[in-house]
Amino acid sequence: MKNKIKLRIFLSVLSCCIVFFISAVYFLQKSEKENVITATTEDYVEFFDVGQGDCTLISSNGKNALIDTGTEKSTRLLSNKLKKQGIKNIDVISLSHFHADHTGGIDDIVSLFNISNLIYPEILGDSAIADRVYNAKKECLAEDGNFYTAKPGMTVKLGDFDITVLYYKGFSEENDRSVYLMAKIGEIKFLFTGDGDDDAENGILNCGLNLDCDILKVPHHGSRTSSSDMFLNATTPKYAVISCGKNNSYGHPHNEAIARYASRDIETYRTDKDGDVIFEIDGEKIAVNTSK
Ligand SMILES: [Zn+2]
Repeated sequence: MKNKIKLRIFLSVLSCCIVFFISAVYFLQKSEKENVITATTEDYVEFFDVGQGDCTLISSNGKNALIDTGTEKSTRLLSNKLKKQGIKNIDVISLSHFHADHTGGIDDIVSLFNISNLIYPEILGDSAIADRVYNAKKECLAEDGNFYTAKPGMTVKLGDFDITVLYYKGFSEENDRSVYLMAKIGEIKFLFTGDGDDDAENGILNCGLNLDCDILKVPHHGSRTSSSDMFLNATTPKYAVISCGKNNSYGHPHNEAIARYASRDIETYRTDKDGDVIFEIDGEKIAVNTSK
């Protein structure tokens, strides 16, 4: 009889331990997922961890722009992060090109927030993504927003930032149709590259544009087919951000590309390892923080 009581006590203690252990794991995972960084300056650029995709927020004095909108899967997480930052209005959304890892959830984002301006590359043919962009455009127009097809030289003033469409080649392979943007605040310059590969890099280099920047959004998630030596020699960034998913099927970022950044001592961040990466601008000072 005594042994039976002991066994019951032992089983009760054991089940309590199991419940405690499972709860602890659940809460630890939850808090890791909800890890959010908060900007301490009015001007900042945040590269969101959207898995294997791209999405960057430029924020200045309460004005906000999104460069790409991540994947469909990341839409809810992205909208929660934006809401946590008190963002209800997005002044500009600029899409680099029509691949699902850059335009996912565009129509959902447009219905969840007030969008003033939508900029995207020329829509070629019919596709599921083109349909979503058309829907986003319709919703944007219904709310008195504007839409524009990207054109080199187009400039948008966003708070203290000047955002310029540096390069856009209308007709070629989709990745190489990526819109290249330069966002400048004071003397600090961010270069956004979408998924531009060799052809786009050669094209932009042949234009003789000033590509010098301080922070480079690494093209095409760190693919070996981008970030050529000539391109990095022309851009000379101090910082670089690779937006990629953990253990993604493309093997991004490729070692050859990483080596080109490492050999130039470029301070490189990766969203798969660092989570969200935020650049806070205070005059000429840049501070970098990560959520992991
Ligand atoms: Zn991509």
